[in-house]
Amino acid sequence: MKFKRVVIKVGSHVLTPDGSVSKEKIRNLVELIFKLMSRGVEVILVSSGAVSAGYTVLPLDRKSIGNKQALAAIGQPLLLKMYQEKFAKYGILCSQVLLSWADLDSKKRTNLAKNAIDNLLSNGVVPIINENDVIATEELVFGDNDQLSASVTDNFDADILIILSDIDALYDKNPREFPDAKVRKVVNSISRDELEATATPNSQFATGGIVTKLKAGDYLLKRGRRMFLSSGFDLSDIESFLLDGVHRGGTLFFS
Ligand code: ADP
Repeated sequence: MKFKRVVIKVGSHVLTPDGSVSKEKIRNLVELIFKLMSRGVEVILVSSGAVSAGYTVLPLDRKSIGNKQALAAIGQPLLLKMYQEKFAKYGILCSQVLLSWADLDSKKRTNLAKNAIDNLLSNGVVPIINENDVIATEELVFGDNDQLSASVTDNFDADILIILSDIDALYDKNPREFPDAKVRKVVNSISRDELEATATPNSQFATGGIVTKLKAGDYLLKRGRRMFLSSGFDLSDIESFLLDGVHRGGTLFFS
């Protein structure tokens, strides 16, 4: 399938494996985006990592929300600078778009944001979206970028959301706890049981970060859009899926 517009979401576990932002991961990601753009695909990037980037220059206690907001404010331009430098090697401009729920909860505001995104993309500029942690209060926060990126995919009319995670696929149970866990290659629907099962910490099916990914998948399936979950450490599965149309590893959500 040929995709016109894709959203790629990269989590902080992938970008900051040792606490600071990995230049190698940024380089690999930018190379993948360049390859997609060379084939005429529009790419929107949703990137975490601002708090970790801030922490490398000012190690405040990350448990307090106020400190996290401060670290995000310090780290966001550092993170963007890293992307900018890598994209510049390919002659590509990137841009910063900070969003909060309020920006996407009315038609009028969503259209304003979509206009800006459309304009950036039609000029060959990569929008790099993050949650606006600095002004976000508890009610306003997206919770995490999995949900934000699902909302962005639907509202900005992308064909598919690519979630690059520290895990290479969705499994039938947590592979870190159960060595016999099996990959689920394709998911057509997510049952209420599965979504609710994920909410309990002792659930066999899923715990931790996978919950928000299932919620993102459910949200997109209900809106007729696709999602692909694969490794952010080794980009070969996502490259083969997006560039060659071959689904080797990773999980495709579609209905
Ligand atoms: P991110 O890379 O986006 O930060 P998370 O670490 O938040 O991702 O979430 C992925 C983690 O969820 C995996 O590393 C794994 O430990 C856990 N997990 C729990 N249940 C499952 C499951 N059924 N399939 C895949 N991963 C699972």
